[in-house]
Amino acid sequence: MDTSRSHALFERARTLLPGGVNSPVRAFKSVGGEPFFVQRADGPYLFDVDGNRYIDYVGSWGPMIVGHNHPNVRQAVKRVLGDGLSFGAPTEAEITMAERITALVPSCEMVRMVNSGTEATLSAIRLARGATGRPCIVKFEGCYHGHGDSFLVKAGSGALTFGVPTSPGVPKVLADLTLTLPYNDFEAATALFETSGADIAGLIIEPVVGNANCLPPREGYLQHLRDLCTQHGALLIFDEVMTGFRVALGGAQARYGVTPDISTFGKIIGGGMPVGAYGGRRELMEQIAPAGPIYQAGTLSGNPVAMAAGLAMLDLVSAPGFHDALETASNTLCDGLEAAAREAGIAFTTTRVGAMFGLFFTDQPYVDTYAQAVACDTAAFNRFFHAMLARGVFLAPSAFEAGFMSSAHDASVIDATIAAAREAFAELAG
Ligand code: PLP
Repeated sequence: MDTSRSHALFERARTLLPGGVNSPVRAFKSVGGEPFFVQRADGPYLFDVDGNRYIDYVGSWGPMIVGHNHPNVRQAVKRVLGDGLSFGAPTEAEITMAERITALVPSCEMVRMVNSGTEATLSAIRLARGATGRPCIVKFEGCYHGHGDSFLVKAGSGALTFGVPTSPGVPKVLADLTLTLPYNDFEAATALFETSGADIAGLIIEPVVGNANCLPPREGYLQHLRDLCTQHGALLIFDEVMTGFRVALGGAQARYGVTPDISTFGKIIGGGMPVGAYGGRRELMEQIAPAGPIYQAGTLSGNPVAMAAGLAMLDLVSAPGFHDALETASNTLCDGLEAAAREAGIAFTTTRVGAMFGLFFTDQPYVDTYAQAVACDTAAFNRFFHAMLARGVFLAPSAFEAGFMSSAHDASVIDATIAAAREAFAELAG
């Protein structure tokens, strides 16, 4: 495979952009090698600047649930472009977007549009702190909520660990206010609320973890967290930036029947444009400025082009049967990958939740904790990643990212992926 043009661009990029990229995981650091540079995308495919085609399971890290460059989204954007790109004054599309989100996600009675998932989660914890008057937030090992200071904190050992900054630049005084828990551990959560409940403003969680590979919640776990928050007067925040409109039309909260106080969104609601949102009960959201005193603002928030793309996307994902078909496709893919690994004698398993899936190189039959995920054979994943890339299949370039299915991945695309995997697993075994 010729990648000389991508190589030349990466050399150029490295002199101007830190690590050659504008977001770290794009640089292939964890899998090794160099990223390809994209020329264009269509349906399930990415095309690089050297003319290579890849079946894409990254989907721009989540937004492309109907495949790339969908004509409806493109036309919706084209329709509004002639009116201007940004006004800094209200538009009707923002109301329509709020109507759509509140209809699809009933726990959100009001919403505020922002420009990224990071902005949504930062704003959500400010709201939690402002509304409760408490200082601490709880997050989970392996969960990613964007790059806000309070979120770049990872647990040390033990369940009740106070925060240790994992990125230089996060002040210790702030990190100390982030309490971390192991995901899917019922007792650890109960114990933390028993000791620190009165200080906890909110608990934020990816209801299906998609940033430590793909870890589904155990039966009753999300409800357990709901009960603890209610009991201790803390707010439950579901970070549905990844799961929203993906694992079900109404997100993880609809799939698992658990109602959070605040939800955060991104990715799919922007249709590929830079968009985020957060929402919750009216009485909470009315504490946001200018209705209330908790300040949050944005020059480009509710941008008309972004709203048009997002609304077209929400129309597409609202089609009857849309999510069922994606779930079937994820199952076909993951069953096929598991069978191919078995044939080659490779220890491998998968998880699937709707249109999200996880790939684990391990002899454990099922993985649903962070500790299990980090114990998997990342070197094997990295070899598999490159063996698949060489065969024209682009998986997330890290063992700790979920894969994303789209409605453009039809049976023939999935068959081609499994055929490539059969060869890739054989290469690993040989
Ligand atoms: N929350 C979750 C669950 C995410 O997966 C991400 C990004 O991947 C974010 C928040 C941050 O979103 P953004 O990258 O748009 O700032």
